Amino acid sequence: TLPLDVEPIRAQFPVLHQEVNGQPLAYLDNAATTQKPRAVIDAVSGFYERDCANVHRGVHALSARATEAYEAARGSVQRRLNARRPGEIVFVRGATEAINLVAWSFLRPRLQAGDEILVTEMEHHANIVPWQLLCQQIGAQLRVVPVTDSGELRLEALDGLLGDRTRLLALTHVSNALGTINPVAEIVARAHARGVPVLVDGAQALPHVAMDVQALDVDFYVFSGHKTYGPSGIGALYGKHEHLQAMPPWQGGGEMILSVTFDRTTFAAPPLRFEAGTPDMEGAIGLAAALEWLESVGLERAAAHERELLDHATRALRSVPGVRIIGTAAEKAAIISFTMEGAHPHDIGTILDHEGIAVRTGHHCAQPLMRRFGVPATARASFALYNTHAEVERLVEGLHQVRRVLGR
Ligand code: PMP
Repeated sequence: TLPLDVEPIRAQFPVLHQEVNGQPLAYLDNAATTQKPRAVIDAVSGFYERDCANVHRGVHALSARATEAYEAARGSVQRRLNARRPGEIVFVRGATEAINLVAWSFLRPRLQAGDEILVTEMEHHANIVPWQLLCQQIGAQLRVVPVTDSGELRLEALDGLLGDRTRLLALTHVSNALGTINPVAEIVARAHARGVPVLVDGAQALPHVAMDVQALDVDFYVFSGHKTYGPSGIGALYGKHEHLQAMPPWQGGGEMILSVTFDRTTFAAPPLRFEAGTPDMEGAIGLAAALEWLESVGLERAAAHERELLDHATRALRSVPGVRIIGTAAEKAAIISFTMEGAHPHDIGTILDHEGIAVRTGHHCAQPLMRRFGVPATARASFALYNTHAEVERLVEGLHQVRRVLGR
């Protein structure tokens, strides 16, 4: 594959061309949210300028266009995930809402006191708390697959944890705090061998990793638009057809019914059964534009570029005295969490911001994982396809500046 030509890509991201604290912005907080290319901005404003109407109900031209665009967007998500049918894609607010939907609509009716839900030690709070809430209501238990010192799942522990009472395994495809890419196909195979369905959190995977829900045979896959160059407030749940068919509605309202009387309501088939109320139409259209834009750039080329940035940054950060990189898995997305001796992550983030460099600091909504590594917080640099080697060098120079400011 040809290397990625970054400058023409950067030119498509208006937000990148600004100064922060007198320095050109180096945006290295992509795991929190990615910036949006012109194609996405135009798709969203184009909807407002030409097609804005409510979907699924009107007979007039604009409503028909809006409905067509919204359903075409579902088709884009279907193709990106290689789902069998568009009806397996439910539009939601994001990964968080998708996980909650599966918790309450899929799992709750099949969960009994004493049953178990299996998660991993590297989950985002979004893939812990919904299961915990469910466990508390039902009297079920959360079990946890531990993580190694390098930030990989202890697969040898998995089989022992998949028990007769395990009703679901929920794990992340890519860790937002460590960058670890988990061997999802192998894990799904092991869970299915024990009859356990699997939900995979793809929030951090979609911008970096090709996805094929049929090949991986996942039961549920969830992601957020805003982390893959699309709008916020929109995301998708993939669910196997047979699961979605069997699931009761989650929220009630318009758009999700067949007929309503005061005695009895019958519900639409999936996916509309799970899309109560007027959906985020412009969000779905913007998301489709983002997926198509990334495909036109080439996911493989983007991933190769990010891999180079990751290797560069990993080597360079190791040369800065006192830096400890947390998460050294063999398979990693372009995310580097680190601490610096004598520097609080918050101070690292503040000093870097003075240099125009945006990184995230904190627990990254993964407090159990932070505890596992014995740190309250880390600084995290996360790269997207528009980042450059020059920005990696600026990060390194910024960390030397942190040492100077803190008198190290
Ligand atoms: N899972 C992972 C791995 C994430 O990184 C995030 C966002 N930081 C989420 C879930 C939640 O995504 P959202 O807030 O967009 O619903």
